Amino acid sequence: MCIFCQIINNEIPSCKVYEDDKTLAFLDINPVNPGHTLVIPKKHYENIEEISEEDLAAVIASVKKVGRLMKDKLGAAGYNVTLNNGAAAGQDVWHLHFHVIPRHDGDGHKTWARRKYSDGETEMIIAKLIS
Ligand code: AMP
Ligand code: ZN
Repeated sequence: MCIFCQIINNEIPSCKVYEDDKTLAFLDINPVNPGHTLVIPKKHYENIEEISEEDLAAVIASVKKVGRLMKDKLGAAGYNVTLNNGAAAGQDVWHLHFHVIPRHDGDGHKTWARRKYSDGETEMIIAKLIS
């Protein structure tokens, strides 16, 4: 059984932030900022391609609730909502989870490095995406 299923079953401890019948939110043990929370479906799905629309809707509703807590209870100015989907995207735990990371003005964390499209690249990418 995966580590997050063990957390759901209370076989290993966690600091629970929010729970309902379909979802659980608990503190990440290695936070980017204090209060960094993981939101998971109680049913095991490896990634966003596997999860049912109904369970995904429940998870996103819980993400929204947790985001509210970041602002109301922790005084966050904003928060990042991140899903690392697949090994190439940095997924380490194979039970779908959204990270909700509280952010404070000047906390020093950088978001993604950006680049420019090269000549013709936009057309090539959009042709692939909509074909
Ligand atoms: P990811 O790289 O998106 O798969 O993130 C997995 C996250 O799970 C990491 O941020 C870990 O710190 C976190 N994590 C791993 N084990 C536990 C645990 N037992 N309790 C809370 N968070 C955990
Ligand atoms: Zn699991």
